[in-house]
Amino acid sequence: MVTSIELLNNVRKNLAELISGEVLWDKEILDYYSVDSSSYQIKPKVVVFPKNQNDILKIIKFSRENKIPIVPRGASTGLVGGALGSGIILDLKNLNHIKVGKNFVSVGPGITKGKLDLILKKEESFFAPNPSIGPYCSVGGMIANNSSGSKSLKYGSVIDNLLEVTIITGNGEVITLPSNKKFGKAITNFAHAIDRKKYPNVTKNSCGYRLDAIKNLNDSHKIIAGSEGTLGIIVSAKLKTKKIPQQKCLLIIEYDDIVKSTKECVNILRTKPVSLEFVDEHTLKNISHRFHPSTKCLLFVEYDTNLKKNISKLKKIILGRIVCELYAELDIERWWRFRDLALSYNLKFIPKNMRIPHMIEDAAVPVEDLDKLISIINGINRRFDTKSIIYGHAGNGNLHIRLISKRKDKKLLKKIAKIFFIKVIKMGGTITAEHGDGLPRSEFVKLQYGNKNYKIFRELKKLFDPDNVLNPGKIITEESQIVRNLIQF
Ligand SMILES: Cc1cc2nc3c(=O)[nH]c(=O)nc-3n(C[C@H](O)[C@H](O)[C@H](O)COP(=O)(O)OP(=O)(O)OC[C@H]3O[C@@H](n4cnc5c(N)ncnc54)[C@H](O)[C@@H]3O)c2cc1C
Repeated sequence: MVTSIELLNNVRKNLAELISGEVLWDKEILDYYSVDSSSYQIKPKVVVFPKNQNDILKIIKFSRENKIPIVPRGASTGLVGGALGSGIILDLKNLNHIKVGKNFVSVGPGITKGKLDLILKKEESFFAPNPSIGPYCSVGGMIANNSSGSKSLKYGSVIDNLLEVTIITGNGEVITLPSNKKFGKAITNFAHAIDRKKYPNVTKNSCGYRLDAIKNLNDSHKIIAGSEGTLGIIVSAKLKTKKIPQQKCLLIIEYDDIVKSTKECVNILRTKPVSLEFVDEHTLKNISHRFHPSTKCLLFVEYDTNLKKNISKLKKIILGRIVCELYAELDIERWWRFRDLALSYNLKFIPKNMRIPHMIEDAAVPVEDLDKLISIINGINRRFDTKSIIYGHAGNGNLHIRLISKRKDKKLLKKIAKIFFIKVIKMGGTITAEHGDGLPRSEFVKLQYGNKNYKIFRELKKLFDPDNVLNPGKIITEESQIVRNLIQF
């Protein structure tokens, strides 16, 4: 009798014979690929490293014939288990071509942000979306999550900086958007059918499918930004680049009250900063600077145009105290490192048994309601006896919240998430501004957008991936995965 493990090994061997890239299934490899930067763990059957587009076409055909789903994977820095799955993991690191053009760059999905930055720097240009993880993420993962960072206030998220994308659909079709008319027309029709009032009133959003960003055929490629590997495997992309600004100034402002600082954000936005970021007292403890003893939080405000005019405007309106006004590149970089390391500092500070998995860590609300978001967090802390650490992209109304508690009741975690998401949606916010839906939030996408839009999302998914082989369970799902496969439990 043939055992199930023998059957599985046959499947793996068949796949290995089929493609020119590597196919691995040693225990250590499967263990390594069973985790990413999230709190989840799912063991795959096999890990594949396609060498080229042709390999991917063969893998997709194989996946459909053998009913084994595919999860594309970049650098695995995602925080929501987007790159985890029980079938085939498709590591795209070999697709790493790069060609710099005037005001754009053509890349493969496997190129890291760090490599891209280095190459563009030689041309005195840059790709604007800058996740705090810095050089380590891949362009494919950034597109799939619609990533953003501290500069997105001025320059936008990936969706605003994507010019063209080539994907392989779940049907094995290679399509380039926006030039593909068949898919372009279908996407545009979906975009015209959605209820736009159900989309959040925020400047950054990585929840569900971004049909709201599509006005006409020329925008159809934007549907891939934030699609989390569920509509197609990204095999190349053309990205907008900008010239590195000639001058910069970063101001660090300290406040003795969080609400006071968040209320001030709307006024600061009028001075046109490129960045407006927030860290609370937990992060500032790690910064080698002597702050006023009453300081409870900081705002990082950066300008890259009209420095004199904007800074003098800022100084007239703020209630906080300016502790640094930095112009030298090295000083600016040093302070941004403090902000970018907020998650690492906080993980160091929270003992392992007190960490609550990332679930509500990435909401955004209209900036004028940031103080209300803080009240919601305080309310959760009071009701559930939790503590929180907060930092993030205040200028986009996007705060990262880390909850701290000893209690590890799964039902309670889900309850906290649901209460939080309902309140955020009611305020016109998004349940995820940058990290995506992944395992914790996909079941709440319907709550965010309503039945009518969710039905359209389903049709859209069917168009691209009729057999549901591409990252199943993400964005479109009937199952609850928020507390399933958590590592700590
Ligand atoms: C410390 C830390 C700080 C972070 N800060 C930020 C931040 O400031 N802003 C931000 O936006 N994010 C941030 N993140 C989250 C994460 O870094 C980004 O989402 C990043 O862009 C993910 O890229 P990746 O290559 O690691 O993707 P992965 O984690 O490998 O994958 C992410 C998703 O993309 C899909 N995917 C990957 N490649 C492809 C492809 N070729 N085709 C189709 N789908 C694909 C995967 O299936 C998965 O759904 C942070 C993470 C960490 C750990």
